[in-house]
Amino acid sequence: MEDWNVVTESPEETMTLAEKLGNIAQPGDVLTLEGDLGAGKTSFTKGFAKGLGVKRVVNSPTFTIIKEYKGRIPLYHMDVYRMEDEMEDLGLEEYFYGDGATVIEWPSMIASQLPEDRLMISLFHEGEMSRNIVFRTTGPRSVELLKELRHE
Ligand code: ADP
Ligand code: MG
Repeated sequence: MEDWNVVTESPEETMTLAEKLGNIAQPGDVLTLEGDLGAGKTSFTKGFAKGLGVKRVVNSPTFTIIKEYKGRIPLYHMDVYRMEDEMEDLGLEEYFYGDGATVIEWPSMIASQLPEDRLMISLFHEGEMSRNIVFRTTGPRSVELLKELRHE
């Protein structure tokens, strides 16, 4: 499936888009979020969490690599920015193939441990308030998920 992109003009718009994705996400879904600092990865995660029915405030995990939130299904939020060793085996499969949906900020840090089928999301600064958000699929489930999002 070809890439799909959306330009948002505010953090709220980014969160609303992500919330739609959260509404339709299923256990085992994995999203990766790439982009510079301030691109909107955590804002996207907050919206996604809302769509999953997470009530707690989602912040970037500062001292932990993975945070888990209760929702309609669990959210596993990984921010691997601070990881030093790309080869460190974190035993992430139990999250990827678990009962929840996983969001990974800075996926390039754990490239070798990522599941094959994931929805890859890249955020680009276009201006102070505008972000170009590009979605790329890598397998049947991410294709399905993106198709559903586009019809929301
Ligand atoms: P990251 O996790 O990628 O470092 P954050 O989500 O923490 O980024 O921060 C994004 C910052 O950019 C926030 O301060 C947010 O208010 C601001 N912002 C401005 N416009 C947008 C937009 N269209 N989408 C997302 N965030 C935006
Ligand atoms: Mg962040």
